Amino acid sequence: MTERKKSRTKPVQAEVNIGLVGHVDAGKTSLVEALTGKWVDTHSEELKRGISIRIGYADASFFKCEKCDKHAYFTNSEKCPKCNAKAKFLRRVSFVDAPGHETLMATMLSGAALMNGAVLVVAANEPCPQPQTIEHLNALEISGVKKIVVAQNKVDLVEKKEAERNHEEIAKFLSEFGYKNVPIVPTAAHFRGNIDLLIEEIERTIPTPKSDLKKPLKMYCGRSFDVNKPGTKINELKGGVLGGTIISGKVKVGDTIEIGPGPMGKKIITTVKRINCSSGELSEAVPGGLIAIETTLDPSIAQNDQLKGQIIGKPGTLPEPTSEISVGVHFIKRSVTDIAPEIKTNEMLVLTIGTMTSIGTILSSNNKKAKIALKKPVIVEKGQRIAISKREKMKWRLVAYGEIE
Ligand code: ZN
Repeated sequence: MTERKKSRTKPVQAEVNIGLVGHVDAGKTSLVEALTGKWVDTHSEELKRGISIRIGYADASFFKCEKCDKHAYFTNSEKCPKCNAKAKFLRRVSFVDAPGHETLMATMLSGAALMNGAVLVVAANEPCPQPQTIEHLNALEISGVKKIVVAQNKVDLVEKKEAERNHEEIAKFLSEFGYKNVPIVPTAAHFRGNIDLLIEEIERTIPTPKSDLKKPLKMYCGRSFDVNKPGTKINELKGGVLGGTIISGKVKVGDTIEIGPGPMGKKIITTVKRINCSSGELSEAVPGGLIAIETTLDPSIAQNDQLKGQIIGKPGTLPEPTSEISVGVHFIKRSVTDIAPEIKTNEMLVLTIGTMTSIGTILSSNNKKAKIALKKPVIVEKGQRIAISKREKMKWRLVAYGEIE
């Protein structure tokens, strides 16, 4: 049992990140609200504490009533809403919101790097798939997110026959992507309809990943900010804040950390002053959930997400940054447009590498292997998958993924 499972009085770090993906009109926002309850309040609490995790996310604690036999799952209440008995705490979950809008695909892809599983939200009153549904599933596949649950939302707006037809469309679409036996839960998020069933399926389908605390620290930075209000006195200024998820290892207050490749391609070293998760301050953080680290860095270095995409480790443990990468190229099977599956020498691309987005120019390509020069240096590992987007009619479209050689 980890510390976070034992205690209900101390702040609890979330142990799994679940993406909320899907088409922009599918009702993701109301689903997040239905799943996480008072998330808006939680957020303002963080702001009051002066350290905020502004990534698109919301946390929830899952509970189960063992007295009620079926579907007795709910969030953020220690008492069963049906029988009032004391409920069992299951785990704390971070929901990572992915923008549904297609122009934010790069943001979606960097969010996918933080996800352990995903809830794909599909609207029951629209044909499936919508273009963004395809792009998001491509992104999940590329990022290696295999555990998914579908929320077939807005079922209150359709007749039973239509809901059944839509259900079949979803199942067919998923199996084309190689996703088999995915639970499809009909929901009506506006009325909190079937949220208990959705939680039950999440619990069954998306396990907490095993984390190796002995491995060196590796954290993906998804956001960064200056939390100081204008006019704060110099001696009251808080250092730059890094928001993201630990992939391996752990970090504690007082640790020296290294940030790479660094804002100018030069690694920087700083000290951990405070660590926060949505339920409060932690003395030590482990993999899972979204956390925020307040550092001793000049806050101007961290403002406006300037450190987004950076990797955080212990000094001397991060690989050297590089400005040129060689990748094996794999074109996605199902594109949303008839964009050609090819990348040519001298072509400009957008690459998503972990939570980092970088512009690249193809130095050489035979459509199976490519050498790419990057505008800003990155830290990569052999075998890592990166997303490759190509420009088409003023939009960046996901076309392939590359595997670092
Ligand atoms: Zn009960």
